[in-house]
Amino acid sequence: MPKTFYILSLGCPKNRVDAEMIWAAAARSGLISVDLAEEADVIIVNTCAFIQSAVEESIDTIVEMGRYKSAGSCSRLVVAGCLSPRYGRGLIEQLPEVDLFVGPAEVGQLGNWLAKEVPPEKFICQSGSSFLPQAATGRVNSLAPGSAYLKVAEGCSRSCSFCVIPRLRGPLQSRSLEDLVSEASNLIDLGVHEIVLVAQDLANWGKDLSVRPALHDLVEALACVKGLKWLRLMYLFPAAIPERLIELIASKKNVLAYLDLPFQHIDGEVLKRMRRGGDPQIIDALIDRLRRQIEDVVIRTSLMTGFPGESEDAFLRLVDFVERSRFERLGVFAFSPEPGSLAAKLAGQVPGQVALRRQEELLAIQQPIALDYHTRLIDKQLPVIVEGVNSEGKLFGRAWNQAPEIDGQTIIKGTAEIGQIITARVVDVGPYDLEVDINE
Ligand code: SF4
Repeated sequence: MPKTFYILSLGCPKNRVDAEMIWAAAARSGLISVDLAEEADVIIVNTCAFIQSAVEESIDTIVEMGRYKSAGSCSRLVVAGCLSPRYGRGLIEQLPEVDLFVGPAEVGQLGNWLAKEVPPEKFICQSGSSFLPQAATGRVNSLAPGSAYLKVAEGCSRSCSFCVIPRLRGPLQSRSLEDLVSEASNLIDLGVHEIVLVAQDLANWGKDLSVRPALHDLVEALACVKGLKWLRLMYLFPAAIPERLIELIASKKNVLAYLDLPFQHIDGEVLKRMRRGGDPQIIDALIDRLRRQIEDVVIRTSLMTGFPGESEDAFLRLVDFVERSRFERLGVFAFSPEPGSLAAKLAGQVPGQVALRRQEELLAIQQPIALDYHTRLIDKQLPVIVEGVNSEGKLFGRAWNQAPEIDGQTIIKGTAEIGQIITARVVDVGPYDLEVDINE
């Protein structure tokens, strides 16, 4: 009787693509996928270790899955993802219920160790490195029907002082343009209409390749792939947005006017201590350029509160930035002093409570701004990708200005085929969600 497997993936879309490849490798090795952990012989937890709260969630999940081993339903518990490279062999003792620890670099080999071969040892992890997928690697698409992530590179060669990712996943490794176009065509042949480009550092894609292509070369090539309706760009390092890319987004119908630009802060001193490059004037000028050059542009950003040295004045500059920039989409995170990061050792640490209060204050300022943006969409006809039926039996999806997993949803009145892109009139809004009616 072939064995069964269950995989649970935590963290970011880049990690999710790894889980999709592990899933495909497990199936190729003869394992059968099941939807419930209690039915699985092999359980794989694809962990995230970006910040402490993610580490805690990963460990809680492993312990929870470990209960199926003691209950006897699971014979093998495997830990993949960023926890292994972050904490090393010490995990073997801390989590004795785990049979195999691997890291992002071992994604390509893991399939062999799941069903057939006994892995050479319990902890196999080449820290500071990642497996770079190819179109031929094979993966399943775990996003809603019609959409898929395309991971264009792995790792990161920047050195933001609060971040440990380069240490976990290694320096930037870009996939070739030809390989990415080939995978995009495969995805479209499978019925995908929306491709979401992801990487730790999308803006730097190609910088490590011999011919040093730029991101806009890739965007231009993908925009020409027959059948691609929506191309979405996530995780663009703000200090690296070339004019050519802006022109492409403004001119190409299937390149969404949706830009995810994690500015993190606006105070010059704080940006310097974050090692993010850029300065307030450059950031303001970029936002101004985007709003002038790209019609109906949606700017998503992430901001961090409570970074070491963030004075009350620096925070008030951040408040002013949010009020005057009127971002369509905003995520705010309280600084987390990550052991091993430069920022954790910086002077001027801000008390956690203050960081959290500032986070809440910014989110409260943003809510009416988000609602105002949505209110101006009422009666407009919007393209919406249909994703499924929710627990109330309502059809739902995402409008073009809603990214998967991080933005709100759109409730759809009327009937439509799941996985298709429809156009419908906005009839009701909230600060994050929309409601559209196909029949109007
Ligand atoms: S760009 Fe900065 S925050 Fe993003 S992965 Fe690289 S080092 Fe980390």
